[in-house]
Amino acid sequence: MPLIELQHITKTFEAGDADFKALDDVSLSIEPGEFVAIMGPSGSGKSTLMNIVGLLDRPTSGTYVLEGKPVSLKMSDREQARLRSEFVGFIFQNFNLLANVDVLENVALPALYARHPSYDRRGRAKALLQQVGLSHRLQYRPSKLSGGEKQRVAIARALMNNPKVVLADEPTGNLDSKSGKEVISILKNLNTKGTTLLLVTHSEELAAAANRIVRLKDGRIVL
Ligand code: ADP
Ligand code: MG
Repeated sequence: MPLIELQHITKTFEAGDADFKALDDVSLSIEPGEFVAIMGPSGSGKSTLMNIVGLLDRPTSGTYVLEGKPVSLKMSDREQARLRSEFVGFIFQNFNLLANVDVLENVALPALYARHPSYDRRGRAKALLQQVGLSHRLQYRPSKLSGGEKQRVAIARALMNNPKVVLADEPTGNLDSKSGKEVISILKNLNTKGTTLLLVTHSEELAAAANRIVRLKDGRIVL
């Protein structure tokens, strides 16, 4: 059974008088354990697609089937947020770390939004930070970190709730090539250990690490 199945997904944005189709009849199936790279020019709908898969946004039409169950368009925002915190870990180009709390707390925070309240979230966050080589940065504020370190914090945070899929939207887009390579190697390693990975990239190097490349153009998958 696919982990993620998009069937004829369309996303329309209102743009003045005319509507604009950011996604136009996109069908895509992702098996557990796959590493899929999404590529395509700017404006082709990559982030829109990630936001729908990541339950941050909803399609205008079409069906999203998650682990065999259709995701209802009628779900409340709250229910959708709950599902998101259980299923998905996000990594963004701009890291999106909270400036006013330390590295450890940034990583541990998603556990507050998840179902299982009473476990050692700091202990788990520490272990994840160790995996990404940041045990020596636990008490640092994000502003004291390099770009590569920030993205490694974001990777640890994405793993906090043990998601079924990790989504990364241009994770190396703001990194120098050395930090980019470190991030690529961590992501690749995660996938080798079984994490399903869907990422958007302009980097041929990162795309080469994927099992499969899906190309978008004008909101459609091109072959
Ligand atoms: P990409 O990530 O491939 O650069 P996006 O998915 O961000 O592309 O955007 C695809 C198209 O949809 C763009 O033309 C963008 O301007 C438009 N778009 C994205 N989000 C919105 C929005 N919230 N409102 C209106 N138009 C949007
Ligand atoms: Mg984008």
